Amino acid sequence: MKVPVNKIIPFSAVDGPGNRTAVFVQGCNFNCRYCHNPETRNLCKNCGECVEKCPKHALYVENGEVRFRPELCCGCDTCIKTCRFGCSPRIQYLDAGEVFERIKKQMPYIRGITVSGGECTLYPDFLRELFVLCREAHLGTLLDSNGTLDFEAYPELLDVTDGVMLDVKAWTDEDHHTVTSVSNEMVLKNMRYLASQGKLFEVRTVIVPELFDCRGTVRETATLAAQYLDKGNIRYKIIKYRPMGVREEYAHYRVPDQAFLEELAELARSCGMTDVLIV
Ligand code: SF4
Ligand code: SF4
Ligand code: SF4
Repeated sequence: MKVPVNKIIPFSAVDGPGNRTAVFVQGCNFNCRYCHNPETRNLCKNCGECVEKCPKHALYVENGEVRFRPELCCGCDTCIKTCRFGCSPRIQYLDAGEVFERIKKQMPYIRGITVSGGECTLYPDFLRELFVLCREAHLGTLLDSNGTLDFEAYPELLDVTDGVMLDVKAWTDEDHHTVTSVSNEMVLKNMRYLASQGKLFEVRTVIVPELFDCRGTVRETATLAAQYLDKGNIRYKIIKYRPMGVREEYAHYRVPDQAFLEELAELARSCGMTDVLIV
């Protein structure tokens, strides 16, 4: 099975513990207002409009589909700015074996891999195949997910996954709709299920005070996560909203100050969380 891969970062120190290769797939079923990479959400519609705008001829059309030559790309983002559908043509369709070939090159220097997006769990079969290969090579396997795949229905995937970094973007369904346009029913089910299986590596909340009830979200998320700490450590990452990359119509939100972030971290600790990080 080939999936649209947006990019592979050979060495990342911010996508889980230790040095890791981070794989970013294209496509997401959420529409977060604060998305920093909104061009990773939609799949290219092959309209071809960005092809002629590319100054490096890194894009071309083959059999009616836009193809990308990464070796020619200068990263100018002209294609992304051109696209009226909010997508990126800079993707390659790769299967698990092909992605693993690219990971293998840095194997002596990495502790594991993290697959992110977009939303990587749109492609559960690909993830399982890739993680099987990584496990055979003694590499760690983490997922970064918005929590909409029903993990309980994919035990073969969880068997080869070390842990999930799960976004809890808002606690109430109403707030979650405001932030993402989607319900959080499955997210919260997953949070409970993954934590009970010792597979919840981390929960994360992006703090945007004007957009949703941040205090309530941190309090409820921390209270729930803390009930499962006997199954394994769970980090709560409190992420400061930053406007970089955010679509113009949503880039007006106020950046929370450090005092508010510290208050939220303290709130999480008071609810029983021991590993709380502000980033
Ligand atoms: S970022 Fe896009 S437009 Fe710029 S060189 Fe790369 S493919 Fe071409
Ligand atoms: S990325 Fe956008 S502009 Fe380029 S071909 Fe695809 S849909 Fe058209
Ligand atoms: S889940 Fe992530 S990739 Fe998807 S819209 Fe939200 S921030 Fe963007």
